[in-house]
Amino acid sequence: MILEIQELDMKMIRLMNVKKQRRNELHNVQKELDDVVHKAAGKDEHIAATRKDLRILETQITDVNARIEKAEAKQNAIKKVEEFNAMTGEITSAQREKTRLESQASEVTDRLVAEEEGIQDLKKEVKRVQDTSKSLQKELTGAIEEINSEGVLLQKERASLAANADHDLLEIYERLLHNKKDRVLVAVENRTCSGCHIVLTAQHENLVRRGERPVFCEHCARLHYWKVEEEGPSGDVAVKRRRKK
Ligand SMILES: [Zn+2]
Repeated sequence: MILEIQELDMKMIRLMNVKKQRRNELHNVQKELDDVVHKAAGKDEHIAATRKDLRILETQITDVNARIEKAEAKQNAIKKVEEFNAMTGEITSAQREKTRLESQASEVTDRLVAEEEGIQDLKKEVKRVQDTSKSLQKELTGAIEEINSEGVLLQKERASLAANADHDLLEIYERLLHNKKDRVLVAVENRTCSGCHIVLTAQHENLVRRGERPVFCEHCARLHYWKVEEEGPSGDVAVKRRRKK
């Protein structure tokens, strides 16, 4: 009975490990999606800032153009050579500034074009990750739900077995299981503990064979049971198994 419970418990432990894995995978899928969305948002912000830089430069160019036009108009009205020359100087320096601003604007425009191309690729990537995430998330969530219902079935099966099991023995078993999270009710085979594979004494083996009280492995603290030889026709084995329990 306890052996059957143990097999259910091992199944449950494996099931919970798989569930943990699935949950981690789910977490990673979400993280990948968040990362790429975050990256795209960052690029978008950057592009907005670049566009703003460009607008400022364009305003500055408009202003300097207006200044040049104004200076040229003034120059046309001037008769005195000194004033004319002064205006020429002003126009020249304004034109130099205009050239500088235009070259800056051209650089920023090139950058903007490159950034906009980049964001197009990134948005495609976001779309791709979103699509794969969606199907992966669906798949993983489904797997977790399946695990949960399987777990509920295992619990039910275990509860009905536990109700009929030797209460004291079950308690000992559960305490050991809690510590080891592995099989704790193990057979003695060839005078060896099948839990830790350390050889036992003949006296110990006899105690286990008699089965009068719980016998623990002195090396790994697992609970020992005597395994009836599983030989001969299958019918025999079933009888022996039944007798053992
Ligand atoms: Zn042992």
